[in-house]
Amino acid sequence: MSEPRWLTEGAPHVWRPYCQMKTARPPLPVVATRGSRLILEDGRELVDGLASWWTACHGYNHPHIADALRAQIEAMPHVMFGGLAHEPAYRLAQRLAGLLPGDLDHVFFAESGSVAVEIAMKMALQYQLNRGVSGRTRFLAFRGGYHGDTLATMTVCDPEEGMHSLFAGVMPAQVIADLPRDAASEAALDAVLAARGSEIAAMLVEPLIQGAGGMLPHPPEVLRTLRRLADKHGVLLVFDEIFTGFGRTGSLFAMQAAGVEPDIVTLSKALTGGTLPLSAAVARRHVFEAFWSDDPGAALMHGPTYMANPLACAAANASLDLFEDGAWARDVARVSAALAEGLEPCRQGAGVVDVRTLGAIGVVEFDAPVAVSDLCARFAERGAWIRPMGKVVYLTPAFTTPDADLALLTHAVRQVVGVD
Ligand SMILES: *Cc1c(COP(=O)(O)O)cnc(C)c1O
Repeated sequence: MSEPRWLTEGAPHVWRPYCQMKTARPPLPVVATRGSRLILEDGRELVDGLASWWTACHGYNHPHIADALRAQIEAMPHVMFGGLAHEPAYRLAQRLAGLLPGDLDHVFFAESGSVAVEIAMKMALQYQLNRGVSGRTRFLAFRGGYHGDTLATMTVCDPEEGMHSLFAGVMPAQVIADLPRDAASEAALDAVLAARGSEIAAMLVEPLIQGAGGMLPHPPEVLRTLRRLADKHGVLLVFDEIFTGFGRTGSLFAMQAAGVEPDIVTLSKALTGGTLPLSAAVARRHVFEAFWSDDPGAALMHGPTYMANPLACAAANASLDLFEDGAWARDVARVSAALAEGLEPCRQGAGVVDVRTLGAIGVVEFDAPVAVSDLCARFAERGAWIRPMGKVVYLTPAFTTPDADLALLTHAVRQVVGVD
């Protein structure tokens, strides 16, 4: 395939993500998307096994979202959110509060996942100060976790994770613990909190499954244990549902599978159905009330320039419309069954240590990190867009991916794993 001119001419100027550019293969030129597929410059179509980093949950170019975006761009693409209000954001906040359990009712908008996590961290720090509690300046997070790439969020990611270990010492060290999966690890976490709890403002966890850290699931009991320990030690509990939110694990929010409410939840990725960047940190009433005061100094001093962008909020409202009829739950169950069945034979593959499925997430885990760039190319030859991560080859397709395209994806994985 000859490269299009825009790629050859622009390539010296584009700094690519997560990539040693000197040795990596060139990126694939995409010119359009349709349903579950990416359409390449040379006309080839790839079935997207990742829904573009877990965002495009309804598939690409959904007409209902596209119509909402067209209407909104004509009316008002953007206005600042300081001192101004608009219907797309106010409606969205009300709808999110209605969908989230309990009194998770206070929505602070931002543009990216990492920034929403930073805001949740800042809320937790100031929540403690506003209540007159000083010294709680640190966070507790878990091995295997991932919460973003910005400097503060890196400190609450898995410390061994290659992406971030380089910067050890740059930022204050946080307390990193093992998830309380059994009596021994629960006692260990309880002991850490007894010893250091008075330094800790909040603990952060991705509920039900740690995503970018390796697609590592845990049972709902873990979240109930965290809630109990957070309350015991006066630490806020933050659920980072940026990956799990909006149906990916089989319930609309992962927290619902455990019946546990965090004090703050972060949302992004599938919030706009994969069309525009938008995120939110949503707080419970007691968190919000710690900022509600006659004292201007008690306010949350934060406000990203593009927060609550009307286009992004219109897309999110349209995406929520699509969740309303409940068809997504049947689709997630259908995708889940297809991934489980299609990936099962991979257990026999060389170096494979586990095959697992949770909701619309299918995972083949190897005993060592895989060659990402080479595997991407081999998947693409088979008509699939799959980009492995660390030791895992995983599939997180759009919920609407047709059965034939799901079969193509799992077939490609079986072939590359060498069991088909
Ligand atoms: C992707 C992700 C983030 C970071 O979101 P960005 O939009 O890439 O900044 C944070 N937390 C979790 C759980 C994620 O999956």
